[in-house]
Formats: sequence, C-alpha cells, structure tokens
Amino acid sequence: MRKLIAGNWKMNGLGADGLALARDLAKRAGRAPLAAELLICPPATLLAAAGEAIAGSGILLGGQDCHTRQHGAHTGDISAAMLRDAGCSYVILGHSERRTDHHESDALVCAKVKAAREAGLVAILCLGETAGERDAGRTLEIVSRQLAGSLPEGLGAAELVIAYEPIWAIGTGRTALPADVAGVHAHLRAALKGKVAAPSEVRLLYGGSVKPANARELLGLANVDGALVGGASLNAADFWAIAEAAA
Ligand code: PEP
Repeated sequence: MRKLIAGNWKMNGLGADGLALARDLAKRAGRAPLAAELLICPPATLLAAAGEAIAGSGILLGGQDCHTRQHGAHTGDISAAMLRDAGCSYVILGHSERRTDHHESDALVCAKVKAAREAGLVAILCLGETAGERDAGRTLEIVSRQLAGSLPEGLGAAELVIAYEPIWAIGTGRTALPADVAGVHAHLRAALKGKVAAPSEVRLLYGGSVKPANARELLGLANVDGALVGGASLNAADFWAIAEAAA
C-alpha cells in the first residue's frame, strides 16, 4: 500500500512563508518523485495560494477541519464542500487539539466524517490517549472507544485514513516507543474489521513528534502506513526527509 505523509501546518503560516514552503516542496517533487503520497494541510487562508503553488507537482492539498453541514448560517466555519471546491482531497478530523480546544465529541467527529465523505473528501480521523490514560494502561480502551464513536458505518477503505496520535507525543519531542506504536496499530487494524469494507486497505498513520531522525524506524513498522506530521512539516527539508524515509 502506498504510504501517506501528511503535513498539518496547524495555525501557522502567513502569505509569504506559507507560499515559500509550498513552492519549495513542489520544486523538490519536480526533481525527484516520491514513493509516498505527500499531502499538505495549510490553514484555510493559504489553501488557494498553496494549492496554486503545488499544482501539477503531485502533492495533495487537505483541510484541517470541516463543519458537519455543507453550507448555511455557521459563522467562521468551513464546510467539506468548500474544502473540496478549494482543491482539497483530504481533511483532518478529530485532531486532539480540536477535541480539546473546541470540546469536539466522538459523535461530532463522526458527523464530520460523514460530511467529508458526502463532499468527496478522504477523512483523516485522529485518535489518541492522554499521558494519564497511557500511564493507567488504558490506551487500547481509549482508542477503541474513539474509533467506535467517531467512525460512521459503511465507509470504504479509500474514503478513510486513521491517524494514531498519542496526545503526550504531539509537539513535545517525545515519540511513542516503536513496540507501542506497532501494538496500537495492530489493535486498530483488528478493530476495523466489520466497521469498514476491506479493513486491511485502510491506511493507519502514526503522529507525534515524527522527524527525520525517527521517521525510518516508525514508518518501517508493521501496520504503519504513513505519518501525520505537525512541527516538522513546517520545514521543507525536514518534511521532505520524512517523506523520503517512507520508501
Ligand atoms: C500533529 O499535530 O498532528 C502532530 C503530530 O504534531 P507534531 O508532529 O508537532 O508532534
């Protein structure tokens, strides 16, 4: 299965630096095509400019969130249909920062995944436990509950990507141990049985302080089909090096 390396720019990037980053990646893609699929998820304000900069490079564009409805009176929100219209093919949903900052529940995330599918976007559904939950040995219980609550019925493997992101590893420089990542991913693969058609074809990403130095080991693990990258995706050389590690 072709690995997916997704860059989550979060709330970072003004016009000039965001554009420079997208152009740098497009230039690299033009020089040496990658084995992996490369995706950038800039803030909404940069989607059009970044989309133009990567046009024709093979790099894909994604959003960082969407509303449950496709249009209407929802000030400040962006719909999946709007993301699709702006050139996106993916959308990150249920990221822990949204679950925390905006109190997003599994049920809300589930409705967003449905909206993404309706609009023709692939949902990158994020799951992960807190440090306390991990220390209490509850990781598998937490990700199972999130998966059961956030995943609508009837999705095909091509409509869904799952990202396992231990919250304590996001933006902290701490990475989960390879054996733990492999264990959670094996659990998620098994848990997808009966929930999606062709569960073996759903890509399972790892996220949490992925960088060039640890990418090869993490991406070489069984059932790790790519990475969701935050901080390191803001540096073209680092993001590219991670993508190259996903051969
Ligand atoms: C993320 O926010 O999805 C993430 C994995 O961030 P970082 O790579 O900075 O830990």
